[in-house]
Amino acid sequence: MNAFSPPPRLLMGPGPSNVSPEVLAAQARPTIGHLDPSFVGLMDRIKDQLRLAFRTDNRVTFPLSAPASLAMEMALVTLLEPGDTAIIAQNGVFGGRMAEIARRAGAEVRLVSVEWGKPVDPEAVRTSILEAPQAKLLAFVHAETSTGVRSDAASLCALAREAGLLSVVDTVTGLGGIPVSVDEWQADAVYAGTQKCLSAPPGLAPITFSDRAVSAVKARKTPIQSWFLDLGLMLGYWEGEGARSYHHTAPVNALYGLHESLSRLLGEGLETAWARHRAAHDRLVERLQGLGIAFVVDKEHRLPQLNTVWLPEGVKDVPERRRLLDEFGIEIGGGLGPLAGRIWRIGLMGETCRIENVDRLAEAIAAVLP
Ligand code: PLP
Repeated sequence: MNAFSPPPRLLMGPGPSNVSPEVLAAQARPTIGHLDPSFVGLMDRIKDQLRLAFRTDNRVTFPLSAPASLAMEMALVTLLEPGDTAIIAQNGVFGGRMAEIARRAGAEVRLVSVEWGKPVDPEAVRTSILEAPQAKLLAFVHAETSTGVRSDAASLCALAREAGLLSVVDTVTGLGGIPVSVDEWQADAVYAGTQKCLSAPPGLAPITFSDRAVSAVKARKTPIQSWFLDLGLMLGYWEGEGARSYHHTAPVNALYGLHESLSRLLGEGLETAWARHRAAHDRLVERLQGLGIAFVVDKEHRLPQLNTVWLPEGVKDVPERRRLLDEFGIEIGGGLGPLAGRIWRIGLMGETCRIENVDRLAEAIAAVLP
């Protein structure tokens, strides 16, 4: 059997982003035991790195061995019990996924629906909180990958806190690309993914819980239905001085890669990384507007790392994206839900986020336009 050899790709879609040779090399180092004292030392370093990246002192901060959807699931099923009320804002695909998970956890969901392409409206959230004073938590997506919109996490978390609700924040696409300040926001459960602005391969999900959230978990009347997502059991492995207990076999090599990618991000500096994402976004705006391509999201709410643009007149979605892939080796994303077939999603995340890549894409798009 021939080994699989992936084609060279410039990953400018909604994720994964390109992974640096350094991170790939780190992942190729020899596997050691997941309870080896040396590996436990690496786990502690990764937790410290994640605290810096999330800007939090939260003790409970670790990478879940799973894609980010499971971090979403962990945050919600850990904090919700059957019969609880959850206020969930939806302005794209991922708010909808949160609502579905909360319903399956037995919660009564109050959906705050917002037009796709717009940020979550704090006034609508305030109204929903007033209408449901019994609600236990507010959940929303900080960086909506399906639309390219940034919502105001600081204001939304403040609304939750003032009303005594816990806040759950999805910043899967946010972390590393735009400011994320868990402690300043006083957010309670915040999770991310590795495959976006952290530029590590997909399959791990950094997550952090405030002390308030941990107290809420301890005060549960019912056990968490999911064995794997039971925070208390999981922390037997990720927490504690000295010996850690077996919970599951951690993806050792993937964690080498995450450590390397976080070292690169923190070595560059968070502010510098955010500025790099802004600069690449500005270049993309300049180049695409020069081709007559319009952006979907109002300027002040755009995510620099995930750009949505209207398909130009006469351009077919799937065939032209296929040409970008086949002829230029560039992957971009199509629209989802009501935006399917109408928009393109262009990611400038992590390692991919370089001016020369923006120029390469702009030239390729110019070549496929009719
Ligand atoms: N939340 C957001 C905002 C996302 O963009 C994604 C993936 O694109 C997810 C959650 C789910 O992540 P995963 O595909 O790693 O499960």
